[in-house]
Amino acid sequence: MEPSVQSFWFSTPAEQGLIPCVDSVGDALRFAADLGSDDLVVLDLASGHFIDCNRSAHERLGYAREHFLTLNPAAIQADEELADDLMRDQLRAMRQQPRGSFATRHRARSGACRDVSVSYQVLDLSGRLVALVSHRDRTELDTALRESTRLGSLLQEAERLTHVGSWELNHRTGELLLSRETYSILGISPDVGAVTYGLFLGKVHPEDRALVEATFQDASRSGRPYRIEYRLLLDDGRLKVVLERGRTSLGDDGEPITTLGTVQDISEQHEIQQRLERIAFVDPLTRLPNKAAAVRQLARLLRTAGREHAIVLINLDLDNFQSINNSLGHEIGNQVLQASGSCLRHLMRPDDWLARVGSDEFILLRPVALADRLDALQWAEEIRRSLGNTPGMGTGLAVQPSASLGVALAPDHGTDPDTLLRCANTALMEAKQHGKNQLRFYTPEISLQLRERLELELSLGRAIDREQLRLFYQPQIDRGGSRIAGAEALLRWRDQSGRMVSPNVFIPLAEKTGQIHTIGLWVIEEACRQLHAWHRQGLRPGKLAINISALQLGAEHPSLSELLTGALNTYDLVPENLELEITETALLNDPDRAGEQLRQLAESGFSLAIDDFGTGYSSLAMLHSLPLDKLKIDRFFVERLGNDDADLAIVKATIVMAKELGLMTLAEGVETPEQLRMLQNLGCDQFQGFLLGRPMPAEAFGSLLSTAAAA
Ligand code: C2E
Ligand code: MG
Ligand code: MG
Repeated sequence: MEPSVQSFWFSTPAEQGLIPCVDSVGDALRFAADLGSDDLVVLDLASGHFIDCNRSAHERLGYAREHFLTLNPAAIQADEELADDLMRDQLRAMRQQPRGSFATRHRARSGACRDVSVSYQVLDLSGRLVALVSHRDRTELDTALRESTRLGSLLQEAERLTHVGSWELNHRTGELLLSRETYSILGISPDVGAVTYGLFLGKVHPEDRALVEATFQDASRSGRPYRIEYRLLLDDGRLKVVLERGRTSLGDDGEPITTLGTVQDISEQHEIQQRLERIAFVDPLTRLPNKAAAVRQLARLLRTAGREHAIVLINLDLDNFQSINNSLGHEIGNQVLQASGSCLRHLMRPDDWLARVGSDEFILLRPVALADRLDALQWAEEIRRSLGNTPGMGTGLAVQPSASLGVALAPDHGTDPDTLLRCANTALMEAKQHGKNQLRFYTPEISLQLRERLELELSLGRAIDREQLRLFYQPQIDRGGSRIAGAEALLRWRDQSGRMVSPNVFIPLAEKTGQIHTIGLWVIEEACRQLHAWHRQGLRPGKLAINISALQLGAEHPSLSELLTGALNTYDLVPENLELEITETALLNDPDRAGEQLRQLAESGFSLAIDDFGTGYSSLAMLHSLPLDKLKIDRFFVERLGNDDADLAIVKATIVMAKELGLMTLAEGVETPEQLRMLQNLGCDQFQGFLLGRPMPAEAFGSLLSTAAAA
């Protein structure tokens, strides 16, 4: 350091040992040098040496003050090879231009390089040219700038890859700032400059515009974050689906300041989702929506239906589809389903909705005005009538198979999809119970009946094991009105709750479920066992009549006659001990087959009686061809004997006709002496009814027999 130069600029008061005196504000400013963060150096332009510096100038580069003041600009230059040349250029520039700035790189004592911006002012210090030089370290700033540029392009790249753009709306100025990707998503060139909210809204699909605007307005007022999916319709006609998210910041006065948001192009995801939906919600055979879609659609309709609206739900099941499939093959079966789908489509209005929800099951939905909902029955009836009557388009069938339909209504029967579907299905099951091509409207009673039937069916299955079945015996009296000619075995069921269930209820049920075979066999065996027991007691009950269901008659392995023979053998009985009662209606279903079976039984020696005669309108010719022994005139006619001449005529004609065919006649349900007398006068052979004896337990009937034998 040159002793002639006073180091007053950059030395501290502590270093000087006194508080400096200043003459002016200008002088005071000199002390700023050590307060600021810039490095300040005084450079002698003639020698090129540093002659003074502030603390940060030497400390930042890692030198002690004394050491630093022995250096020149070349010594702290980062590029060592060019250091001397650079210094020379800098000194020359300073001499030529007393004030200026440039950028350079310095090397600290540790070897680390720093980016520096240099500003200088040349001063005349008592005839000697010096430069006051400020070194501002830009390394951190440059790194930050570089980093932010890098982050900016990273963000841009990320936005481009994920198809997510960002934007910011200034509510005060109305200015909308868009990221590059947002421009691209909206199909706007970044060159158009400032974009307004109105311009953006113009790109939204007209059908979605109101929703987008309402959502945005609401979010801007409340400050709540929002999320909305909508479509863009770009100027070139392209359609995009986007997901927009945003949040508005509100001022203290509650007014919106800015909304920050993102917009994501989800067209591809949407397309994939739609494709998946097609797979998940469409029945591939008929191309109709499937069950899952039906549930979803019903839920949607229920959700959006106003108070004044109702929904009609039809559950439809094709009749006989299983046998078409089995007999004509699956190919035809498929064609029938497809044809049924198009047939139903023709019966629909634009607002109606159709789905295939099971193998041969369809669902139709129709939204209607609440007041018109009962018209739904007409629609259902139209469908019912049309299906069985249209030609089976391309199916090789003369007609499209008929269908059974169950109808339910919302809100009357329920307001959720599950309940409504269940109601429509209950109505459908009820329709099917009544045969083919039937239509039923849901009522709570139907549901109750079905449940009871189901419960009955379950407990009936266990009735035999639980020994809940019994046979009662009702005497059959001969023409004189006093001798027991035989008895009819009548089934009784006392269920687990102790309730007596009428055979009129459980026999038809057992026939439907197939349980009739087990029950029927139990009846045969029990009747034979009892007959055997009476025989052993020396009692003579005459013929024991057993009721036989049409299904038992038609059974094959084992056949009815095999079952009967088995029981007879076990109990040491002969066919002549039994009479088989078959209802008239059982014969009518398939007269040829029934005739064949009856002939076999008759040949084996069994007596055959036709039960409930008069209720089934069987023809004389048919009866003539069957090997029958007895006609049982139905209670219905006996009941009306005294009141109705027409019924009297029928009974009379029946008895005459039976005699001509060589058949015995038995009148059922004789309750009054008057009826008995009239029937006796008409020439009826036998009588059965409460007047002559109610159905009774075996012991009671045994006592009756012994009393009669004693008399
Ligand atoms: P069904 O074979 O015509 O039996 C006569 C029915 O009339 C019996 O009803 C009997 O109790 C009733 N009855 C008899 N006399 C009178 C009378 O004077 N007045 C009135 N009001 N009723 C009278 P039940 O026992 O309730 O049986 C009903 C039907 O259930 C039977 O009609 C029969 O078709 C069927 N059934 C009963 N047991 C069996 C069985 O073991 N197998 C089959 N397959 N069906 C059976
Ligand atoms: Mg009977
Ligand atoms: Mg009867």
